[in-house]
Amino acid sequence: MNAHDSERVAGLLEEAGYRKAPDGETPDLIVFNTCAVRENAADRLYGNLGHLLPTKKAHKNMQIAVGGCLAQMERDQITRRAPWVDVVYGTHNIGALPKLLERARIKEEAQVEFEETLATFPSLLPARRQSPYSAWVSISVGCNNTCTFCIVPSLRGREKDRRPGDILDEIKALTNDGALEVTLLGQNVNSYGAEFGDRTAFSKLLRKCGEIDGLERVRFTSPHPRDFTDDVIEAMADTPNVMPSLHMPLQSGSDTILRAMRRAYRRDRYLAILDNVRRHIPHAAITTDIIVGFPGETARDFEDTLDVVRQARFASAFTFRYSIRPGTPAATMDDQVPAEVVQERYDRLVALLEEICTEENAKLDGATVEVLVAEGEGRKDAATHRMSGRAKDNRLVHFYPGGTPPLDTPVPPRPGDIVTTVVTGTAPHYLLADGEPLSVRRTRAADAWELRCSPGGATPLDPPANGGTARPPVPPGQVLLGMPVVRR
Ligand code: SF4
Repeated sequence: MNAHDSERVAGLLEEAGYRKAPDGETPDLIVFNTCAVRENAADRLYGNLGHLLPTKKAHKNMQIAVGGCLAQMERDQITRRAPWVDVVYGTHNIGALPKLLERARIKEEAQVEFEETLATFPSLLPARRQSPYSAWVSISVGCNNTCTFCIVPSLRGREKDRRPGDILDEIKALTNDGALEVTLLGQNVNSYGAEFGDRTAFSKLLRKCGEIDGLERVRFTSPHPRDFTDDVIEAMADTPNVMPSLHMPLQSGSDTILRAMRRAYRRDRYLAILDNVRRHIPHAAITTDIIVGFPGETARDFEDTLDVVRQARFASAFTFRYSIRPGTPAATMDDQVPAEVVQERYDRLVALLEEICTEENAKLDGATVEVLVAEGEGRKDAATHRMSGRAKDNRLVHFYPGGTPPLDTPVPPRPGDIVTTVVTGTAPHYLLADGEPLSVRRTRAADAWELRCSPGGATPLDPPANGGTARPPVPPGQVLLGMPVVRR
């Protein structure tokens, strides 16, 4: 969600005449798009702002803006603790950023502005997409749930749903520009439609995505087990371009803890959903989020979590050690679990998951996989002479691109191309495919990627999702934005 907001911020600023600072050059503008969910988020923000102070003093015209969830939470604190910040804005008024920067420059004083309700649905703002082959598409913002560990509802407000037609128009515009893959985004995609009174709106949306020419991969995040209904499973199974992967947050395998978390499902319901998904989509890779050490979690509760993990056979999991998030109901609960106990349980959970993920991935040895080649997925690719991407089930695949290393095939695959290859090795977190690829399909998405990488190859800004036409590339402006070279 935040990554997509950053694309909107970049798009807005480019439309206002800013352009990205070249590497190594000190920019004229730095925007922090903050996240309050991360541990010690405030400390890290103030630490970064502190490190920027000397740079700011040395570059009088440089501006610093802070937005996102943490800005919404800290509000006036930011300009009090870091008076060299020029603009602070909230989650509901991203669109005001260029105006606030301008006002701060003219008035020579910090501008702090928040809206209590969403001013403009972020998708109506222009975007500078990070990837031409894979795109985020918001279907809703905010959340009507009240999970006791989560700060999102108080910072993002109640759920607001976009109209299906607007979403589909945005997806069509993206595929026309070459995108092969979209990920539908919402804090709880399964409650999509609640605002306009259609409980089956999400499954209908998935089926509609199946009718879009050129759209090869549809993903979504995050579903909520409480609202995950059979019509969604059926739509996933019936719609070929909806990928066989599902990220289903568990959080805890103990009914007592789920109740304390105010997660309105229980372990049996959770496991029944997984069974049903696997009945309809046998090769679905299911991933999850788990919190260890929520207040009041006993050894027995934790064993319940391990038990669900054993039964669920996850393909991978994001695991979190519970720690207090100020402003959440759980922060003031009695029975906070001592840090060393949390750590010991966390280590056991991670060890179990490693074992299960190793076994699940090993089942794919020898399987044929279709990989959407991606940029930045394989940190060791240069050293190993491999490329990387995602299989249909979203597993990470490091593959040999063909020819003789390093990458001297006549036409090596590009990010956005589709490579079909055979798995020759597995590890807990990835698959290896070290044989000659069975095929490399060159795509329009990769053409778009190549265009973007070519000298002067700026691609048009994504048009606003309410229609309109794509704007031409922004000509070089007067102002640079980005992260400066800061010596610590
Ligand atoms: Fe937070 Fe729960 Fe809403 Fe997810 S469903 S955003 S965890 S309140």
